Amino acid sequence: MSDSYQSFEYDVLVIGAGGAGLRAAIEASAAGCKTGLVCKSLLGKAHTVMAEGGIAAALGTLDSRDSWRQHFCDTLIGGNFANHWRMAQIHAQQAPDRVRELEKWGAVFDRTSDGKGNINVRHFGGHTYKRLAHVGDRTGLELIRTLQDKGVHSGIEVHMECTIFSLLKDGDRIAGAYGYFRETGRPVLFKAKSVILSTGGIGKLYRVNSNSWECTGDGFALAYLAGAELADMEYVQFHPTGMVWPPSVRGLLITEGVRGEGGVLKNNKGERFMFKYIPPKYQGKYADTEAEANAWFQNVVVEGQKEETVKERKPPELMSRDVTSRAIWTEIKEGRGTEHSGIYLDIASRRTPEDIKRKLPSMYHQFKQLADVDITKVPMEIAPTCHYMMGGIKVDPETQMSTVPGLFAAGECSAGMHGSNRLGGNSLSDLVVFGKLAGEHAAAFAKAHSTPKVDESSLIQMEKEMNRPFENQGGEVSYSLLADLQTVMERGAGMYREEALLDQGLKDLTALRDRLKKVSAEGNRLFNPGWHVALDLRNMLIVGEAITRAARERKESRGGHTRTDCPGYSKDFAKKRIVVRQNNGSMEVVQEDLPQIPLELENELIQEHLLKPEIMKQLRGEAPMVS
Ligand SMILES: Cc1cc2nc3c(=O)[nH]c(=O)nc-3n(C[C@H](O)[C@H](O)[C@H](O)COP(=O)(O)OP(=O)(O)OC[C@H]3O[C@@H](n4cnc5c(N)ncnc54)[C@H](O)[C@@H]3O)c2cc1C
Repeated sequence: MSDSYQSFEYDVLVIGAGGAGLRAAIEASAAGCKTGLVCKSLLGKAHTVMAEGGIAAALGTLDSRDSWRQHFCDTLIGGNFANHWRMAQIHAQQAPDRVRELEKWGAVFDRTSDGKGNINVRHFGGHTYKRLAHVGDRTGLELIRTLQDKGVHSGIEVHMECTIFSLLKDGDRIAGAYGYFRETGRPVLFKAKSVILSTGGIGKLYRVNSNSWECTGDGFALAYLAGAELADMEYVQFHPTGMVWPPSVRGLLITEGVRGEGGVLKNNKGERFMFKYIPPKYQGKYADTEAEANAWFQNVVVEGQKEETVKERKPPELMSRDVTSRAIWTEIKEGRGTEHSGIYLDIASRRTPEDIKRKLPSMYHQFKQLADVDITKVPMEIAPTCHYMMGGIKVDPETQMSTVPGLFAAGECSAGMHGSNRLGGNSLSDLVVFGKLAGEHAAAFAKAHSTPKVDESSLIQMEKEMNRPFENQGGEVSYSLLADLQTVMERGAGMYREEALLDQGLKDLTALRDRLKKVSAEGNRLFNPGWHVALDLRNMLIVGEAITRAARERKESRGGHTRTDCPGYSKDFAKKRIVVRQNNGSMEVVQEDLPQIPLELENELIQEHLLKPEIMKQLRGEAPMVS
C-alpha cells in the first residue's frame, strides 16, 4: 500500500490556499514550523481572488470617529447579536493591524485624494463609517497576490490541484490528511502534528450562487467526520445583488461597492423601494426620504465631503445584506420585479461613464463581456444569490482550535464571527485576523506535541470508498445528482424556510444519499471531473443535512435564516446557538448557550451610544419589534 501513495510529513498542514490558508501558513512557517499547504486549484486561484469591494478595518483614515468599538458594534448589530462576541471583538481590534501589514507586504491599496497618502476607504452596507480598504473592485486579487508573494518566500511547501478526502486521527487528536492529486488521481498522505482547515464556503450547494467551483463545503464535512462540532449552520447568506440575466451568468456577484458608489435599487415602477423596508434596528441611521438620500450621495460620494460634516443620513440601499435581500425578494414576490424576476440596480443615471469605469472596472467588464450590458448606460437586473456561509466549524475564539485537539479552522469554513449575517468586507478581514491566529496556535500545538501515529491500514478503507464510483458501473452520473441536490437545497433550505419544507428537504437528502451509493464514474482516476464531483457529493450531502437540521431547530427568523412559519426574533433562541455533531454515525443537533458580551463592556458601549438598549432588547426577543 505505502508504495502506491506519495507521503509528506509536516509540523503544520494547511488545507486551503485562500486568504485564510495563506495567512495561516505564513504565520506557522514564521514560527519555525515545517508547513505544507494543499489546495484544490492552482495557487492564486482560490475563491478569495473573486472578492471585490474591500476589506473592513477601522483605520479611520477618512473619518476619525471610527474605532474598533464602532466596528465591533456594527458587526454585532449586523449579525443580529448571534455572533460569538469575543470573535467579533478580536476581529475589530486586530483588523487595522492586519491591513497595515498587508500594505507593508506590498498590497497597493487605493489612496485618499487629500494628498496625505492614506489608505482610501469606502462605504459598505451596515458599516457606520467608510471602512473598506480596497483596490478598485479587485481587492481579493490584491490580497491573494500579496499573501502568495509573501508565502512562497517563507519556505512553505505547496501542493496544488490536490483534494483532501479525509482527515486522519491518532486517538482523539489529529494526525494528518489523505487525498488525491486531481490530475493523476494519485493518492497522497500528509502526516502532520496539527492541521488547519481553511477550505472556504458552501455556495455550490445552491443552484443560484456567486461562488467558485471549489466551494463544496469540504472542510465542514471533513471536520464533522473527524468528530468536530459545527455551529450556526442555519445561517446562509444570500447576497442581494447577483446577476439574473442572461442565464449563463446567473448568480454572478455584483459588488456592494456599486451601491457604495451611489447605485440605487428600483422596482418595475421605477420606485426606489428601500425606504419602505428600514427595520427598527436601523431607524434613525438611514435617510427616510429620497431627497435626503440624494443630498447625502451628492455631498459624500460625488463631492467627497466628510460624512461627519454633512447633516443627511446615508441611503437605505446601504443597509445590511439580510435586510436588503428580503426587501428585493418581497418586491419580486409581490409582482414589482423585472421581466427576468429581478430588480433594477441603477448606477448609470447616478455617475458619469468615466467614474463608473474608474471606480468599478470589474463590474463594467463583467457585464459588458459576459452579458453585453453596458452598465454606464442601462440598469442591471439583479436578485439575491447564495453567497456566504456564516456557520461552520466551531472554534475557540482565541486559538481557532476546533473541538478536535490539533485541528484548527479559519476563514469562511469556521463559525462565530459573523453571527446570523456577515457585513460586506468583514470576510477578508476575518481571513487575515483569524488566519494569523490559527497559524500561530497550530504552530504552538505542533511544538508542544510529539509526532502522531497514522494507522496506514485505515487508508485501504479510504481507497475503497474513493474508488466506489468506478465499481458502480452503469449507475447514475454525478452531475445529475448534483443538480438535484441544488434544487433540494433551494426548495428546502433556501432563502425562505418553513418546517414542512425542511422536513421534506431531509427526506429528499436521504434519498440523494441512497442514490450517491450507486453513482458511477467512467474511465479511470486520471483527471476525471465526474469522479471528483462524485467524491465532493459526500461532503455536500453532509453539509446540506447540517444546514437543514439546524434550520429546522431554530424556530425564529434571524439574519440569513428566515422562517416564514416563525417570523421575528424569539426570546427562546436569542441566546442559543445550534450545534451539529456526529453521534453513533447519525447527525445530532443540540442547542448551546451562546456566549454573551460581558455586562461591563455592554454598559460601556451603551454609555458611548454605540449600542442602544432598546434595539438590543428587540434583537434578544425581550421587547416587541416596533416599525
Ligand atoms: C464574487 C465575490 C465577491 C466577494 N467580495 C468580498 C469583499 O469585497 N469583501 C469581503 O470581505 N468578502 C468578499 N467575498 C467573500 C470572500 O471572498 C470569501 O468569504 C473568502 O474569500 C473566503 O476565503 P477563505 O480563505 O475562507 O476560502 P477560499 O478563498 O474559498 O479558499 C478555499 C481554499 O480551500 C481549498 N480547498 C477546498 N476544499 C479542499 C479540499 N478538500 N482539499 C484541498 N483544498 C481544498 C480551495 O482550493 C481553496 O484554495 C466575496 C465573495 C465572492 C464570491
